Amino acid sequence: MNDYLQPNFTNFSYIVASLLFIFGLKMLSSARTARRGNMVSAAGMLLAVVATLLSGGLSFIWIIVGMLVGGAVGLVSAKMVKMTAMPEMVALFNGSGGVASLLVGWAEYHRAGSMEIGIALPTGLAVLIGGITFTGSIVAYAKLAEKISGKPFLFPGQNIGNMALLAIALLLVVAFSLLAHGGPGVPYTLLGGLILLSLILGVLVVIPIGGADMPVVIALLNSYSGLAACAAGFVIRNNVLIVAGSLVGASGLILTSIMCKAMNRSLANVLFSGFGSAAPASGGTAVQGEAKPVSAEDAYFILEAASSVIFVPGYGMAVAQAQHAVEELGAILRNNGADVKFVIHPVAGRMPGHMNVLLAEANVEYELLVEPEDVNPVISTIDVAIVIGANDVVNPAAREDEASPIYGMPIINVDQAKTCIVLKRSLNPGFAGIQNALFFRPNTRMLFGDAKASVQALIASFKEG
Ligand code: NDP
Repeated sequence: MNDYLQPNFTNFSYIVASLLFIFGLKMLSSARTARRGNMVSAAGMLLAVVATLLSGGLSFIWIIVGMLVGGAVGLVSAKMVKMTAMPEMVALFNGSGGVASLLVGWAEYHRAGSMEIGIALPTGLAVLIGGITFTGSIVAYAKLAEKISGKPFLFPGQNIGNMALLAIALLLVVAFSLLAHGGPGVPYTLLGGLILLSLILGVLVVIPIGGADMPVVIALLNSYSGLAACAAGFVIRNNVLIVAGSLVGASGLILTSIMCKAMNRSLANVLFSGFGSAAPASGGTAVQGEAKPVSAEDAYFILEAASSVIFVPGYGMAVAQAQHAVEELGAILRNNGADVKFVIHPVAGRMPGHMNVLLAEANVEYELLVEPEDVNPVISTIDVAIVIGANDVVNPAAREDEASPIYGMPIINVDQAKTCIVLKRSLNPGFAGIQNALFFRPNTRMLFGDAKASVQALIASFKEG
């Protein structure tokens, strides 16, 4: 390609790639089109990568080595990761994005030796945001994977100290931007200080946040990794990186806001309140009473007579990998004449869309999935609500107990169904660490045991009956 055609071809490819990203993102907003959306965005990324490789002036040896090593690590880890460990994997991906932007900023300054303010400013920002994202994501990963305690690590003056460090880091960005045109020396020292401070800040801003809030933090870090990539795009003057980074930044922020709303918490509360630092069950009014266990056989008789049934899956369904059995039971109940729906709470499980992914894997039809606000107004007319390993998202304390830490979180009001059957192994609390009065309500029956085994026992009863 000649010198005139080359930049036009690259820029045209970048515009097409950006459009594919935008359409792909739009398609991700519905479960029906999400898979195709993923493919469309991936095609956009392939186009962007090929156009960049063809733009010339690149050392292919290093690129091939990088692609082989990175591709192998990505392939093996994606194959090995369990569905329940997906948030940890996303945390590591975000961290890799962050450190890549930091290294791009650093390498560009190292290569150039001096920079105009228009490039030095995004370089400083790429380093700062990238560094925070990197170590913040590592801490988030370690908390989720229980490599370190998931409890918030709090000490006096923590928030003010972090704010002061952030202010110093921003001053370093400004100073570096103003001085970077004068060649290495002082600006290099400033950049080194910025790298160190950003890595320390990443640790300090995430350790005070409890393990239960990590998925929200990961959505936020995902947004940061996008902003860092966007800044890196300005550093290397790559338009598609700027666009892709902005899209990741904006969509991560929207996801963070949706998750906060679903938990009825503000982002400031998630980031600064140290939620989960209280001892279990210390929040809220003590829950007392006697739970009524039920055998799979008796639960079968209740379900057999039901003409409307809702399934409410939660984290326990993911742990038990009960989704296929749940789908089978749903089909049996529909054949038996019952109206069956699956009610998905936005924060059920441990990552956004966790239950949707599992139920889609088990081929549950999208038409059967409903949201809490669709069911709650008519829930008193439902014959049976089957809770499969969900706890916090059905805890009536969120509605009734002002002293409870989860007070105000929208829940699925299964306690108001005619009968509620709860499948879990014990009376232990869920992730928020608080007791659940649902288990002691007169219309609740506890089917104790692993969720998959319990559902399979119900299926066996239907087949025998
Ligand atoms: P919970 O964590 O409240 O409860 C899960 C329950 O599953 C436990 O009480 C456990 O009880 C049970 N369980 C575990 N293993 C099994 C098994 N093999 N068979 C049967 N039951 C099992 O889950 P929810 O989905 O109700 O709530 C999600 C929580 O995570 C909320 O607090 C939410 O705020 C939080 N969260 C979720 C996010 C998301 O993106 N989804 C984001 C941020 C926070 P037992 O041990 O007795 O079996």
